[in-house]
Amino acid sequence: MGNEMRTTTPLLELREVTKQFVRSGLPVRALEGVSFSIYPGETLGLVGESGSGKTTIARTILRLTEPSTGHIFFAGRDITHLSQRALRPLRREMQLIFQDPYASLNPRMTVEAILAEPLIVHGIASRSARRERIAELLDLVGLAPEHARRYPHEFSGGQRQRIGIARALSVHPRLLIADEPVSALDVSIQAQVLNLLRTLQEKLGLTLLFIAHDLAVVRHISTRVAVMYLGALCEVAARDTLYGRPLHPYTQALLSAIPYPDPVRERGRRRIILSGDIPSRVAPPSGCRFHTRCPLAFARCASEEPALRSYADHQVACHWVQEHDGQPAPLLPG
Ligand code: SF4
Repeated sequence: MGNEMRTTTPLLELREVTKQFVRSGLPVRALEGVSFSIYPGETLGLVGESGSGKTTIARTILRLTEPSTGHIFFAGRDITHLSQRALRPLRREMQLIFQDPYASLNPRMTVEAILAEPLIVHGIASRSARRERIAELLDLVGLAPEHARRYPHEFSGGQRQRIGIARALSVHPRLLIADEPVSALDVSIQAQVLNLLRTLQEKLGLTLLFIAHDLAVVRHISTRVAVMYLGALCEVAARDTLYGRPLHPYTQALLSAIPYPDPVRERGRRRIILSGDIPSRVAPPSGCRFHTRCPLAFARCASEEPALRSYADHQVACHWVQEHDGQPAPLLPG
């Protein structure tokens, strides 16, 4: 699904969400005016380096942390200020898949108990119906019925992530938020878990927010991709549009780091090396947050924050792109 006219209501919408908190006595600006929508059945890949605010977004959507300003809508309803009690039925509809499958599973519980827990919490099924649902879930994620009696330490990392996915699916959510779900896994296992998520998403008609630090991982699963830098979105576009014609200098730098499978193309790949480290979120740079590392930065970039503007099929926050009528930054070979 690209940026064409949509007639449906987004399942999830963030409007100008900001989040500030205090760490070690210092104010941290974790999110800066973040706005995006995810439509039913769509997968939005949210990409950015560590510290860019991706996990804060996940926690804010789930109201595990409160936004400082802005609004969160779920299925058209403003849930920003709902009480915890009013949120309870909605929690069932939004489930989280964690980064570290081992840390997120209770080592003293069998798989059966792990999968039964959300059903019991949400009062969903009788004892016999629970047993049936657990068998169905194990089958759905490619595990065997006898796995129900085992403990998390008896499984490989990939299998544990399958258990985490089964747990998230147990209560029939409409939205899955997967926070770096494959980054703790071996590369060979990552593809299996990504394929499983994609198959489940299609089969169950799920809507997915897939968070990762790696554009290569997001490519295989996303319908649209949003790129974040230091708490703000810098580019949002349909997957093929973003990978085929990235406009923002930061997106271009991230893409230039992905190796080509073809050795001939790989030999010609030009990597855009960004100078410096990611700045602190305690004192982010003025103007464009990327200006301290951007090879194209000019005077306006240090003083004026670029807004996320629409250019045909992209949304981009960059003065250079704006001043060149939506042309791509000239960092990648044409
Ligand atoms: Fe670079 Fe300026 Fe664009 Fe920021 S606004 S990405 S510093 S050119």
